[in-house]
Amino acid sequence: MGHLDADCFYVSAERVRDEFLRDKAVGVLGNQGACVIAKSYEMKAAGVGTGMPIWEALVKCPTGIYVKRDFRWYEVLSRLMLDVVRELSPRVEYYSIDEFFFLAGPARGRTFQELAVALRDRIWERVRVPVTVGIARTRTLAKLISDSAKPFGAWAVLDPEAEAKLLADRPVTEITGIAGRRAARLAPWGIRTCLDLARADRRLVRALLTASGEALWWELNGDPVQPIHPQRPLHKALSRGGSFGEATSDPVVLYAWLVRNLERLIEELEFHAVCAGRLTVWVAYKDGRVGVGQAAPLVPSDRFDILLDTARPCLRRAWVPRVPAARMHLIAERLTPKGRRPLGLFDPPADRAEAIARLKREVNARHGRFVLRSGATLPLAAIYRDTANEYDICDVRGKICF
Ligand SMILES: [Mg+2]
Repeated sequence: MGHLDADCFYVSAERVRDEFLRDKAVGVLGNQGACVIAKSYEMKAAGVGTGMPIWEALVKCPTGIYVKRDFRWYEVLSRLMLDVVRELSPRVEYYSIDEFFFLAGPARGRTFQELAVALRDRIWERVRVPVTVGIARTRTLAKLISDSAKPFGAWAVLDPEAEAKLLADRPVTEITGIAGRRAARLAPWGIRTCLDLARADRRLVRALLTASGEALWWELNGDPVQPIHPQRPLHKALSRGGSFGEATSDPVVLYAWLVRNLERLIEELEFHAVCAGRLTVWVAYKDGRVGVGQAAPLVPSDRFDILLDTARPCLRRAWVPRVPAARMHLIAERLTPKGRRPLGLFDPPADRAEAIARLKREVNARHGRFVLRSGATLPLAAIYRDTANEYDICDVRGKICF
């Protein structure tokens, strides 16, 4: 089993498109630019931690370079890394944007160590993202190994003696799934290192940590009980939206925002190759009120005309007349893979709408995002003129956070 983990991924991804950032203290900002969500080793050395507000980070690391996150770019690189892992392994689990588990089987005449090195080096050559690879008898061991080989490491540990030495050096809290409370339950029994846990009585571990703890015990002892899941789990929801900048009570402007958010949401649906089975329009008003409207299209869809027909009555429900609105989010749920949806018996004739969607995609791909867009967004001309809005400040992938 193997585990691959990119080294400070968001920062490495920024360095792929900007050489200037290499070897410098770099912080990636999230949360509307308010805090550091990822930092380079150089910035870490200056005392900046993940989640630190920008004003504190600036005091600790005034010469650092701070850049805004761009999840779309990170996802692109993540997919390129996944392609490389798939070349060298028959079974790969997409565990997170920068972490994969894989079945490790070196080519004939090659060792596991050579496989680990080949994988690390091929990703570096092809994607220019530094990663660390660990190979071991189980997933849990592979992850412990890659964690201790960071950065830019490649390490296969299959011999039980080398394994025991590694486990003896690591506290139990380094195992995924054993945090403070579970570690505290082990401490009275003298179980502090990973090796203590591996050598402990299996029934005791089960009594203290239930069946999930027992599974870890097997894994630490080299028995793979946690398989590789090659199917990437679908997102639960995709969402687009954010603050208007200037509050508005004009229904025409509100509608323009709805259309803009829908066009951005459709980009996401297409990117992930999913259709939306339900839409929610969420509007926050200046006086503290919140309006919500929800509806489902007849069949899951990623088409502009169908989703706009679904979203329009949602906005009507979420609308509070004459009160200025400040923010809107459009959320797609009940996502289904695009190819696998039920037959579109109730779909309006597809030809024209599909042709328009295709034209829109092609023109925008060639001439710039949103060059061709719905006429309903005309009241937002200023937003489209401002190049800062090419990037999405409030892009949310995989989870909903307002
Ligand atoms: Mg990582």
